[in-house]
Amino acid sequence: MKTFNRIKEITGHLAFRYFFSTVACCFALCNEVVARAGGGGGHGGGGGHSSGGHSSGGSYHYYGGGGGGGGMSPGIVVLIIIIVVIYIIVKGRTGGGEQSGGGDVTADMPNQPFPEGLDKLKVQTSFIEIQNAWQKKDLTVVRKWISDGVYQRYTAQFQMMNKLSQVNKLSNIQINGIKLAKTGVDGKYQTADVAVSFTMDDEFLSEKYPSFNERFIGDSDTEFWTFIKRQDATGNKNLYDNNNCPNCGAPLEIKMGEISRCGQCGTLTNNATYDWVLSEITQADDYNGGSGMEENVELHEMTKNDSLFSVQRVEDIASNVFMQIMEVMTGESDKKLARFAEPATVASILKQKAAIGSIVFDRLYLNDVTLGSFNTTPERLNLVFSLTATYQRVRAGQTLTLIDPEMVSENFSMVLSKNLKGLQTAAKETVYSYECANCGAPFDDTTNDVCPYCQTAVIDFNRNWVLTEFKM
Ligand SMILES: [Zn+2]
Ligand SMILES: [Zn+2]
Repeated sequence: MKTFNRIKEITGHLAFRYFFSTVACCFALCNEVVARAGGGGGHGGGGGHSSGGHSSGGSYHYYGGGGGGGGMSPGIVVLIIIIVVIYIIVKGRTGGGEQSGGGDVTADMPNQPFPEGLDKLKVQTSFIEIQNAWQKKDLTVVRKWISDGVYQRYTAQFQMMNKLSQVNKLSNIQINGIKLAKTGVDGKYQTADVAVSFTMDDEFLSEKYPSFNERFIGDSDTEFWTFIKRQDATGNKNLYDNNNCPNCGAPLEIKMGEISRCGQCGTLTNNATYDWVLSEITQADDYNGGSGMEENVELHEMTKNDSLFSVQRVEDIASNVFMQIMEVMTGESDKKLARFAEPATVASILKQKAAIGSIVFDRLYLNDVTLGSFNTTPERLNLVFSLTATYQRVRAGQTLTLIDPEMVSENFSMVLSKNLKGLQTAAKETVYSYECANCGAPFDDTTNDVCPYCQTAVIDFNRNWVLTEFKM
């Protein structure tokens, strides 16, 4: 991702920064340190777009380096100032980090035909609607065609932005190119990665903490949008140009939240049977076309009877789990964890939470989630995921106190486990951690460890992927 790249880029300038440490803090150079890492940036989307080297309106200053230049003569200081100014101007003109992979990647890509049921108009609609939803912090319009993991990523980000009274305003949105990058087969699903190049103005604003505001004008970037659709889908419905249930035709209620079920017939509109569903957004710099695990023969053999299994879908669950853990880390009820983690893992996460103390993320982007490997124990299949997130943590009070002086990129790993026996029958189509995997009843805000309707255990290795390890 862009986010990640920026950090490398910034590191590359470290020597430069140290050398000029006495003057660096006087300049917008510092802004680079906090430059937004792409609103939805790995963030999985949303406000995406990262920032080339635009200097931002932020007024936060990084007083790094610590006055190493005590012995410099005024003449040298002036010279240094001139060099720094020229550097910033040149960098600003050339778009700074843009060369690192952001610009219009689609211009050089071949024109491949889109798979049946997916076309540029649909992708364009989804892109524009997602940007609108992101800046309004309201997923009502897009809920019916986004995966649960994408929903969770945005919802968690909205909650964190709300804690800091932040909004991410986007304007002058212009799509420069849409091209199909790759199609594939993943379990019973087909996948399509579509590159979208765009330009937009991007402002991160908070009335409460204005010192963290940032503004990027004419931000250009490319993102890869991954859509999935079941191979056994019958017919082509369009979820993108109307607001009716694709199954029964009833108008979809306004309030679909974690669960995208039609109130009339109960179908999950985003189950990828009806239309292509947006399942992931990856920044150009992070996009690598996947780990290839969908072609792993051994994994395929073990999961072939579970018609809902696909690498894309378990990665979606992993991102869902990650965002819910981050919500708990930033003050949401610890009870959430008990819906997807085994007790020992819950205890370990809460221990890490206690060690970190009370935090909020000023920015949090989940750049990448990859199913890297798997192993089996006599009873279980264990899926090992690696995740990269970019963030900046703060403590909120009268003013914001920075915990991380700049954006930090960190790797996480998690293991999701399910009984091999549980993979031998088709899983029920329920919403992960929000509905009972046995009877489908929604879990409201309950502390029960069994479903209030059918008494099935909420954590059940025969029915669900259970978090058995999480490492920061
Ligand atoms: Zn319906
Ligand atoms: Zn139940």
